[in-house]
Amino acid sequence: MSDSTSKTTHYQALILGAGPGGYPCGIRLGQLGVKTLVVEKQHFGGVCLNVGCIPSKALITAAKRLHEIRDAGVMGLVVQGDVTVDMAKMQAWKSGITGKLNNGIRGLLKGNGVDVVDGYGTLTGANEVTVALSEGGTATYTADHIVIATGSRPIEIPGFSYADAPILDSTKALALDEVPEHLVVVGGGYIGLEMGGMFAKLGAKVTVVEATDGLLPGFDTDAVKLVQRTLKKSGVEILLETKAKGWEKAKQGITVTVETKDGLKEIAASHVLVTVGRFPNTEEIGLDAAGVAKDGRFVKVDGQRRTTVPHIFAVGDVACQPMLAHKATYEGELVAEVIAGHNRTYDARTVPSVVFTDPEIAVAGLMEHEARAKGEVLVGKVPYGAIGRALTTNETDGFYKVVVDKDSKQVLGVTICGAHASDLISEAALAVELFAEALDIGLTIHPHPTFGEGLMEAAKAALGEAVHILNKK
Ligand code: FAD
Repeated sequence: MSDSTSKTTHYQALILGAGPGGYPCGIRLGQLGVKTLVVEKQHFGGVCLNVGCIPSKALITAAKRLHEIRDAGVMGLVVQGDVTVDMAKMQAWKSGITGKLNNGIRGLLKGNGVDVVDGYGTLTGANEVTVALSEGGTATYTADHIVIATGSRPIEIPGFSYADAPILDSTKALALDEVPEHLVVVGGGYIGLEMGGMFAKLGAKVTVVEATDGLLPGFDTDAVKLVQRTLKKSGVEILLETKAKGWEKAKQGITVTVETKDGLKEIAASHVLVTVGRFPNTEEIGLDAAGVAKDGRFVKVDGQRRTTVPHIFAVGDVACQPMLAHKATYEGELVAEVIAGHNRTYDARTVPSVVFTDPEIAVAGLMEHEARAKGEVLVGKVPYGAIGRALTTNETDGFYKVVVDKDSKQVLGVTICGAHASDLISEAALAVELFAEALDIGLTIHPHPTFGEGLMEAAKAALGEAVHILNKK
């Protein structure tokens, strides 16, 4: 299928990039009988599976487990001596996971009759892609439909080049085989706090530098306060309204210069992790050659994720916000069905989002402040401490918050901050998707004792009918 001669092969669909946007699109196209080629330059599974969601959650889980073991004394478990960290072994374990998933995706594509080629693809016309093959040489392919799923990359800021060893992007940080001595995290968004919190648990001194006046801008302030409190408890120093200006080598390690409200300050550190956001990969993929327009930094798309050239589509991080894996997958499958002739358009009501900090924050639908800005609402809030299961696992920090429309009692949104919030939020997403009312959750029998009961209780609390807390009069 791939060749290094000038022979051109034709496909009904060609996908550029095999991340969580591109590979599900390929699998679905294969299932629907569309002759498809997936072109991937580096690793099947994209950022998410190789250097993003999966490896970060593996390391976060290991760090959390360490913390739990050290805290187990309260349950009467006696840990003798300290539990130590073998970072190189942890990395090997993590790489085993990503390797398994990576190979699994290649297998799934092939199993569904999809061709794959390793190489860097560039649009060389509205129906043509030229691939610089990883094995050497080039190959040209034509296709009736093309899907751009090239993802995104970390933003670099002036004065902090990722080419310098102590300056880390998330990819370099996730590959460290030693715990950094003192990590300065630039950017208090979700990636910075997840990774900063993880390294602090593993024993690093961590300083978070954030230019605005709060962490996790836009998130529920009750949740952010809780996360901030836990970070401080783990010894993380948080500098708000502070900008990273530059760094230089010191006798030992490096010196990072930051600008605070009160002037310049120097921080002695070993590494800097820059997590200030990501740019979509729209350059050097031949958008101009194909006549595809951009919308700001993203590829311009419509509700079916068609670009300005109707038979070319774009999905995932390259297409639009939010830059999240599950949004990319939803779009990838949507586009596959549109190419196969189904009458579908993007109509999801919510893209749930999760911050894997300690505690986790998970949101589906509107947050309280967003809902209040739109109209009158009722809010049910239940603390984790009121939920029996949370006491039995010693995870009592957190709350469930259900926001409902005052008149219709429809669930507008749910925010959960606490243990297992990431797993609990899918029920809330389904409620929002199905236009459920508070009592649809409240009168669904939830098994006891489980964390899910907290969501049921918060839905009832919104109506003043909770039984495990005192309702607001
Ligand atoms: P990508 O995953 O970026 O995949 C694009 C693919 O295209 C890549 O494999 C790339 O090699 C390939 N490619 C690019 N250009 C070409 C070309 N010209 N030719 C051939 N191939 C090409 N999201 C979540 O939902 N949950 C999380 O917990 C989460 N955690 C994250 C943690 C970190 C540290 C990071 C960095 C990201 C995280 N994300 C998370 C975001 C998530 O990884 C992205 O939203 C997701 O990977 C986007 O999928 P995509 O398919 O659009 O792009």
